[in-house]
Amino acid sequence: MNALAGTSRNFRLASRLLGLDSKLEKSLLIPFREIKVECTIPKDDGTLVSYVGFRIQHDNARGPMKGGIRYHPEVDPDEVNALAQLMTWKTAVADIPYGGAKGGIGCSPRDLSKSELERLTRVFTQKIHDLIGIHTDVPAPDMGTNAQTMAWILDEYSKFHGHSPAVVTGKPIDLGGSLGREAATGRGVVYATEALLAEYWKAVKGLTFIIQGFGNVGSWVARLIHERGGKVIAVSDVTGAVKNQNGIDIPQLLKHKEATGSLTGFSGGDSLDPSELLVHECDVLVQCALGGVLNRENAAHVKAKFIIEAANHPSDPEADEILSKKGVIILPDIYANAGGVTVSYFEWVQNIQGFMWDEDKVNKELKRYMTQAFHNIKTMCQTHHCNLRMGAFTLGVNRVARATLLRGWEA
Ligand code: GLU
Repeated sequence: MNALAGTSRNFRLASRLLGLDSKLEKSLLIPFREIKVECTIPKDDGTLVSYVGFRIQHDNARGPMKGGIRYHPEVDPDEVNALAQLMTWKTAVADIPYGGAKGGIGCSPRDLSKSELERLTRVFTQKIHDLIGIHTDVPAPDMGTNAQTMAWILDEYSKFHGHSPAVVTGKPIDLGGSLGREAATGRGVVYATEALLAEYWKAVKGLTFIIQGFGNVGSWVARLIHERGGKVIAVSDVTGAVKNQNGIDIPQLLKHKEATGSLTGFSGGDSLDPSELLVHECDVLVQCALGGVLNRENAAHVKAKFIIEAANHPSDPEADEILSKKGVIILPDIYANAGGVTVSYFEWVQNIQGFMWDEDKVNKELKRYMTQAFHNIKTMCQTHHCNLRMGAFTLGVNRVARATLLRGWEA
């Protein structure tokens, strides 16, 4: 099942639990605006090449639309649409005053030079600058993009609209970025995991963890789990996987990855087949990579007791069903990875106030938002007798539906 079908299915299930009017249900699913643009740039050798860029603005009932821009070869309109919709529910679950959007360019950023990436980002910004803005739609980094990408967008946007730091979040600190934003998604995942484990009278310390994905999110999750005394027994990324039953020395692995760009060849563990990693024995599996990795082929073999969805839609609905039947507790994406967008909100607030918070305040506020959201999800689970995914979806969808109705939507 593709990402859009899976996400929309979860939305519909939540809408039925909430008893939403069918016309309102339909309206909430339809994106506010879909943008598709051609981006042609000269490569470094002078030849011209064209890419397709998307920005899908899903909903703005609760505030400006918000979400990342992803550079990845698999970017397609359905996927971006699903991710934009997930942002609408995610910002509502986190209780931050935003709607949802997502963007992307179908390209392979690893195969582009820095100057090619800069030209591509500037052309994309030229094509969409009139449709984004501080109170309209605020982009941020996602897979394949980073603080530098946001700096180029900010610079290009400011040529048209004057200096506007709050038009993007996840910027470099020197351009108005927030302290703690780089680590925020991973840190939020760990706060969310702690809130979940506390429900079962457990803590990170002493449990075994497997981390799938070792980019920005996965590497921060690994570092923070390790710092809290959790045993990270296996890690994977696109270059391979490494395992050590006694616990991987994460600071050493981070050094190795920085020096070699890869997980392979690390002397502190044995190599492992990355598909094996998903079904390896552990207490907690943290998914920090692409969507759709757990499906009906492999879900039955998962041995983890808890799954933390640090990535967006990492399990398709068929896997979800199989895992739920097995009694695996799944912490859903629209809550588990909401730390990134929550600190984006803090960054936007700081830009608008023209005031900078210290990192301690950012992290404390992040913990407060993540913990509160978990308790709100649990309340929805009790009210609707549902699992955590439906608890999160009913919480988010209900907030967006209420805002839509209050603004005067008529059936
Ligand atoms: N790309 C991140 C996400 O999917 C962050 C979005 C943001 O900060 O706006 O949640």
